[in-house]
Amino acid sequence: MKRHRLHSEDYTVGWVCALPIELAAATIMLDEEHEDFPQDNSDGNLYTLGRISEHNIVIACLPAGQTGTNSAASVANRMKSKFSSIRFGLLVGVGGGVPSAEPNIRLGDVVVSQPLLGHGGVVQYDFGKTTPSGFERTSFLNTPPMILLQALTKLQANHHISTSSLTRYLSIFSDLPKFARNNTGPDILFESSYNHIEGHTCERCSKDRLVVRTSRSSEEIMVHYGTIASGNQVIRDGLQRDRLSSELGNILCFEMEAAGLMNSFSCLVIRGICDYADSHKNKKWQPYAAATAAAYTKEILSVIPAAEVATTRTVDGAAIYVC
Ligand SMILES: [Zn+2]
Repeated sequence: MKRHRLHSEDYTVGWVCALPIELAAATIMLDEEHEDFPQDNSDGNLYTLGRISEHNIVIACLPAGQTGTNSAASVANRMKSKFSSIRFGLLVGVGGGVPSAEPNIRLGDVVVSQPLLGHGGVVQYDFGKTTPSGFERTSFLNTPPMILLQALTKLQANHHISTSSLTRYLSIFSDLPKFARNNTGPDILFESSYNHIEGHTCERCSKDRLVVRTSRSSEEIMVHYGTIASGNQVIRDGLQRDRLSSELGNILCFEMEAAGLMNSFSCLVIRGICDYADSHKNKKWQPYAAATAAAYTKEILSVIPAAEVATTRTVDGAAIYVC
């Protein structure tokens, strides 16, 4: 039930996603949904408004069919100009994981952008110049804002002391079969050089070319912190995936929006792994991976204190809570 209509300046966290399934997962994570604003003709975004813990959140999704860094930048810029009090952003959704022995990323795991080895958390792999000695990447992307890096530290420390809230938040999806782990199919990884045989599933692909990996309990989700690669092309090739990861100093996942945001919309990138960025990729894991990323986002928001706003008021002046 939508209970309140707040002022635009009451919203201090901007949440951007790219796909309808990611918007659905984000909406489910709201503790409370707020009433929409009347549509502003000069703003092409549609917003979902609500609250998580002490934070008033504005969520916007990319227009249907328009993925990529430019589309993400446009949506984020429109959001920023309408909601002038946004302290930081969160880019949340699914991504293609880079498998390796360490970190041992599995489908459904969560990857978070964190500065590492000279990268600021996100690297744009497809922007640069072609020189006689090869392609030279020239893009420089900002690191996530300090408050979010501090929150990562606090959350990681909390995980040493007590158990993560991730599973608890993920259980909020339990009434929705669409997001269920058991609707995803098996988590299988093929050798990088082995290409998919035609069809929607890997039924016809050779099981002899599967990579043998240690088993993990089906419900266990791990969170990995490090570099995320962003660019405007879908990576669907195991060899290219591995080559790019090696060139960039071991990346955790590929996605298509972050590079458009990092320099103008200070944000943390949170990706649920839905495939391995190879030719075998399909969309079966997307809902569950969108859910794990959204659940982690709820968890990180729970360790960040609210902005210094004494009282949040509805448009009719009623105080609804004190932060
Ligand atoms: Zn296949």
